[in-house]
Amino acid sequence: MDNLKNKGKIFKSLRFQIIVLLIVLSSIPCFVIKEVVVTAYEDRAVAWRTAEIQEQCTILANQIAKTDYLNEPMSEVIDAEISQFSNIYNGRVMIIDDNYKIVRDTFGSEEGKTIIAPDVIACLSGKSTQFYDADAQYIDITTPITELEVEETHVKGAILVSVSTGIIQETNNILAGKANFTSWVILLVILVLIVFVVSYMMKPFKKIVTGIEDVTEGYESENLHVDTYQETEEISEAFNKMLGRMKILDDSRQEFVSNVSHELKTPLTSMKVLADSLLMQEDVPVELYKEFMEDITEEIERENKIINDLLSLVKMDKKSTDLNIKPENINELVERILKRLQPIAALRNVEVVFESFRPVTAEVDEVKLTLAITNLVENAIKYNKEEGWVQVSLNADHKYFYIKVSDSGMGIPQDSLDHIFERFYRVDKSHSREIGGTGLGLAIARNAIIMHRGAVKVHSEEGVGTTFTVRVPLNYIM
Ligand code: ADP
Repeated sequence: MDNLKNKGKIFKSLRFQIIVLLIVLSSIPCFVIKEVVVTAYEDRAVAWRTAEIQEQCTILANQIAKTDYLNEPMSEVIDAEISQFSNIYNGRVMIIDDNYKIVRDTFGSEEGKTIIAPDVIACLSGKSTQFYDADAQYIDITTPITELEVEETHVKGAILVSVSTGIIQETNNILAGKANFTSWVILLVILVLIVFVVSYMMKPFKKIVTGIEDVTEGYESENLHVDTYQETEEISEAFNKMLGRMKILDDSRQEFVSNVSHELKTPLTSMKVLADSLLMQEDVPVELYKEFMEDITEEIERENKIINDLLSLVKMDKKSTDLNIKPENINELVERILKRLQPIAALRNVEVVFESFRPVTAEVDEVKLTLAITNLVENAIKYNKEEGWVQVSLNADHKYFYIKVSDSGMGIPQDSLDHIFERFYRVDKSHSREIGGTGLGLAIARNAIIMHRGAVKVHSEEGVGTTFTVRVPLNYIM
C-alpha cells in the first residue's frame, strides 16, 4: 500500500515529469537522425550502383551492336566482356534478341529460351529500365542494344542484368548498428545530464519546502528568501505575507487572551477583597455585611456580563455560514430595539427619536443585526449627558440600507477613534466601568455588520456628539 502511494508520488513529482519530457524530446531527434542517415545511405548506394551498371551496359550494348553477336553468339571477345561484367558485379547477365530469345545467359541455364517480362518488353521498345527490390536484395537493369540506321534507331536486342545488393544491405546493417549504438550512448549521456541539471534546478523548491517545514515545526524562523527564479521569489513573497499575517493574528490572540484574563480577574479580585475584609473583622454589623454583599453581587453581575459579551463575540468570529439569513422588516426591527432600550434612556432622561425615510426589507440575520444596533444605541444612551438626545434614522437605496445613530454625548477623542472597535478598548476605563461597559460592545457590533458584508463608520466631535453610520446590503451576498 505504502509502495503504491510512493509510486503515485513519483509520477506526480514535477522533477520526474520534467525528466521524462526532456528524455522524450531529446530521443526523438536522436532516432530520427539515425533513421534519415541510414535510409539516405541505402538510396545513395543503390542509385550509384545502378548508374555504374547502366554505364557498363551501354558500353557492352554498343560493342554488341557493332557485331553480329545476336545472330551468331560466337565472339570470344564479347563473351569475355560479358563474363568479366558478371564477375565484377557478382550478377547475372542475359543477352536477348528482338524475338525475346535468350542468346546468352551467364548462368547458362536459360540459353535458347524465350523471355517475356515487362521490363524486357519495355527495353525492346527502346527504353532502359531499372528496378530495385529491397526485400529480395537485387537490382534489375535493362539496356537496349541499338543500331543507327539511315534515319532512325533500330532496337536489335536487350541486355538484362540482375545484380545482388547484399553488400549494400550488409553495409547498411553495420551502419544502422553503429548509429543505434551511438544514439543510445548519446541518450545515456543526455539522461545523466538531464537528471543532474533538473535536480540542481529543483533545489530552490526544496529550499522553500524546508523553510515552510521549519516554520510549521515551530522554529522561530526568519522570512523566506529564495530568489533563484521569479516563481520561487513569488512563492517566498506570498509565504512571507502569510507568515506576517499569522504573526499579527497570533499577537492579537495573545493580547486577547491576556485581556480576557485581566478583565475576568478584576471582578474576582474585588470580590475577594470584599469577602476578606468581612472575614477579618469580628462582630461585623449587619448593615456592613449587607453593603458588602451588594457590592459582591454587582461584581458577579459584571463578571456575568463580560462572559456573555465574550460568548457573543466568539459567535461572531465564526464563519458566515452560521448566519441565519431571512428577509426582515428593518423598520420594525429598529423599533423593537428602541422600545427595549427605552427604560435605560428614561433613567438618564435621554430622548430617543426614530426617523424612517422609507420601509425597508432586507436579508439579514435578525439576532446578530439586533445585537449590533442595540450596542450602538445603548452606547449612544450610556455615553450621553443628562437630558441629551439620540437620533436613529433608517434609509435605503437600490443596493444598501443605512442606519445612522447620532447622539448629543461626550464624543470620542480623535486619537481614540481608530481603536474603539478593538476588543476591550475603552476611552475612559473608569467611566466605562462605572456605567457597566466591557469594551466588547463595538467589537461585537462591527463583527456582526462585517458578517453581513456591511460596513460601519464613526464620526465624532468631543463635547458635541458622535454619529455611527451602518451600511448593509439589502440582499445578502454569499
Ligand atoms: P463599552 O462596553 O466600554 O461601551 P464599546 O466597545 O461599546 O465598549 O465601546 C468602546 C469605547 O468607545 C467605550 O468605552 C467608549 O469610551 C467609546 N464609545 C462608544 N460609543 C460611544 C458614544 N456613542 N459616545 C462616546 N463614546 C463612545
